[in-house]
Amino acid sequence: MSAPIKYVYEFAEGGRDMAALLGGKGAGLAEMTRLGLPVPPGFTVTTEACKVYLATGEEPDELGVEAAQSLAGLERAMGRTLGAPDDPLLVSVRSGARYSMPGMMETILDIGLGDQSVTGLAKASGQERFAWDSYRRLIQMFGRTVMGVNGDLFEQAIAARKSRRAVATDHELDISELVRLTEEFKDIIRKETGGEFPQDPAEQLARAIRAVFDSWNGERARIYRHREHISEDLGTAVNVQAMVFGNLGSDSGTGVAFTRDPATGESGMYGDYLPDAQGEDVVAGVRNALPLSELKVLAPRTYVELGDHLRTLEGHYRDLCDVEFTVERGKLWILQTRVGKRTAEAAFRIAHDLRGDGTITADEALMRVDGAELTRLMFPRFETRPTDVPLAHGVPASPGAAVGVAVFDSAEAVRRAATGEHTVLVRRETTPDDLPGMIAAQAVLTSRGGKTSHAAVVARGMGKVCVCGAEALTVDTVARRFTTASGVVVDEGDTISVDGTAGTVHSGALPLTASDVGRALETGTSTGPVTEAVLGALAHADSVRRLGVRANADTPEDAARARALGAQGIGLCRTEHMFLGERRALVEAMILARDDTARDAALAALLPLQREDFTSILTAMDGLPVTIRLLDPPLHEFLPDRTELAVRLASTVDPDPHERELLHAVERMQEQNPMLGLRGVRLGLAVPGLMAMQVRAVAEAVISRLGAGGCPHAEIMVPLVGTVEELRLARAEAERVLDEVAAETGTTLDCPIGTMIELPRAALTAGRIAEAADFFSFGTNDLTQTTWGLSRDDAEASFFPLYLEKGVFGVSPFESIDQEGVGRLVELAVEAGRDVNPRLETGVCGEHGGDPDSIHFFHGAGLDYVSCSPFRIPAARLEAGRAAV
Ligand code: PEP
Ligand code: MG
Repeated sequence: MSAPIKYVYEFAEGGRDMAALLGGKGAGLAEMTRLGLPVPPGFTVTTEACKVYLATGEEPDELGVEAAQSLAGLERAMGRTLGAPDDPLLVSVRSGARYSMPGMMETILDIGLGDQSVTGLAKASGQERFAWDSYRRLIQMFGRTVMGVNGDLFEQAIAARKSRRAVATDHELDISELVRLTEEFKDIIRKETGGEFPQDPAEQLARAIRAVFDSWNGERARIYRHREHISEDLGTAVNVQAMVFGNLGSDSGTGVAFTRDPATGESGMYGDYLPDAQGEDVVAGVRNALPLSELKVLAPRTYVELGDHLRTLEGHYRDLCDVEFTVERGKLWILQTRVGKRTAEAAFRIAHDLRGDGTITADEALMRVDGAELTRLMFPRFETRPTDVPLAHGVPASPGAAVGVAVFDSAEAVRRAATGEHTVLVRRETTPDDLPGMIAAQAVLTSRGGKTSHAAVVARGMGKVCVCGAEALTVDTVARRFTTASGVVVDEGDTISVDGTAGTVHSGALPLTASDVGRALETGTSTGPVTEAVLGALAHADSVRRLGVRANADTPEDAARARALGAQGIGLCRTEHMFLGERRALVEAMILARDDTARDAALAALLPLQREDFTSILTAMDGLPVTIRLLDPPLHEFLPDRTELAVRLASTVDPDPHERELLHAVERMQEQNPMLGLRGVRLGLAVPGLMAMQVRAVAEAVISRLGAGGCPHAEIMVPLVGTVEELRLARAEAERVLDEVAAETGTTLDCPIGTMIELPRAALTAGRIAEAADFFSFGTNDLTQTTWGLSRDDAEASFFPLYLEKGVFGVSPFESIDQEGVGRLVELAVEAGRDVNPRLETGVCGEHGGDPDSIHFFHGAGLDYVSCSPFRIPAARLEAGRAAV
């Protein structure tokens, strides 16, 4: 018989490995309890209980009994009873999913207070004002979160009372005002819901737990999960914990501390502290916190104790940890810990430092960073001059440089982003409701809050530039403008530049300069701790990866850049890019040629140009493979637009006969579905001499490089093959030309000939195709297009947003490989191809070659290399290394 499912775990029963069941927060509380850290006692309702509730609309039957038992244990540990009239135990009820979703779900504090126990709390704490303030907070939070009352109504009641008393802050409302406010809040609930605020503590607790379950499906949480690719089915755990109070006077307070600086990765205790306040005040950034170092002055013993606990945690988790803590009348309590979020810079530096001091292995260090973070570090920074006076300074909360127009609410950021405009979301402080705007904007700027405020935490997680706590700015969201200390006004729509590394805001668009990391990657020399960490991680990735990394490049400049960034050759040189500009006229002549002589003349004119192209690319990639793809796109792409040409001809009295001919050619070549038409290998077979000219150009370039003492490795790639017969024909023609050039020059030419796999039929008949191929390169852009029947040029603009929203795709299949469909074809083709030709080389050169998740898939599928744009090469090297450990 299997053991009955357990829905509630006391903190002492759990542990760090139980995050799936207890959520990240519950697992952390359990682990700290085991480590003997001062954690207020409590228990966790599991994610399984939440899943049952979400599926059936009812809590599992056993939950009530188990929660009551754990509550009794908690009451025994604290020596007090929940909501007892004389000296009540109060609890907090907090969400805690497996993956951190900061501020996206609900929390209810001070559960247990009622009309009687509020007096008991006042007596027991000796602080009547505190007791009433806690009670009104409970009614407000419970009313909004559990009973669904519009939160603005409570805020309006507070504002009205403050203005009647002519005071500016909640703190200045005296006891009698708070007592009246409490009654007013109860009236609001009555009026809005027809029900009463429940006085029974057990009912409060049960309803609060249910509200947290419900908040899993709240809009904010759903948006966040979607963006962070967190599964919808995980559910949240709920942590019920004895309340401790940071708002009991000057010897109390609350804060957030990190074992290292989460922005720079520098080691040393770091964080914010807010005296005489509740935890939520820090995270919400409603009052500007003090740097943690101030705690050393205010409460030296507590500071030392906190430092000890942080060291214990970092040693235990072997990573940067952060904690939320509260000091209640001099006694330190740790309320939460987790492996802390960090910027990309900090991620590399911390991994490097921990590896350096032997805390983690080189493989572990590699797994602590990723390609997306590396790419972010390669972004440019502002080029500031001494004369650039910032509009304001704030806290550098999330690094990077961004330019955009100022917008003052989330909706406006979303609206402008839809038209492609870059924006900076400016708020006094952000709340979870601002999330869509934060996603849409290039940067976030706030006038309040520290590095641990909502804006800072969320922006850092997203890799978005953020400056917060720019106190000199007066942000007026109604007039939609902000004013600086010196009176400069920035209205909505004005361009500003936000420097998240320096913590400054500038008017206008500042010029950008390359990042240190970008430069270090190209030169291979480090200029500081971050670049050293990046180069260290890449060196290790290179030493363990199995996948080669090549570049998609078709100019010598791109080839050189790619090589400097670590490319091991070119996986795709698109020759059509060489047929544009002035050469268009020659291509036009080739297409319009009336006979072989005219066509041959056009091709002969193109030949030396192509040879020069290939020679310079082979020079830049000397010693490394260069895969040259024969001309691929529909020929009409090289001709003028049909409508424009027709209009021009119709409006000319004496039309140019050449233009008339051109129009006929354009009309002749017009296709309904050019992507499925005369392109790829079909073109090479249909246009006499075209393929021969390109192959000859490659062969002559190789000969010329050999003559110059170089070491050229050209490979010829045939695009869009659907059947082995096409490849056989193309191969025969290519070999004929190669032999011809070899004979003419008395050299031997070793030039592999392979094909792209871009059509489902090619993948399904890969065993046959491999008979005629030295290599396969998966063109996953076209393979995705043809497998899904989705136009790669149109689909993303039309129904993709809807599909993403409805979850048909988690991510666009053009961005990250569709593993079970397109990916399956890749696997089948690799297997079948290798069966026939064990020496077959396989790579991928579609956009997916630079996408981190896809790279892991291609590693698993056994490909030999990935090929991607030059700027994605470092991230691809890193991910290929991560895939291998
Ligand atoms: C592909 O289809 O994946 C590919 C690399 O070729 P192109 O993008 O040039 O069609
Ligand atoms: Mg293609």
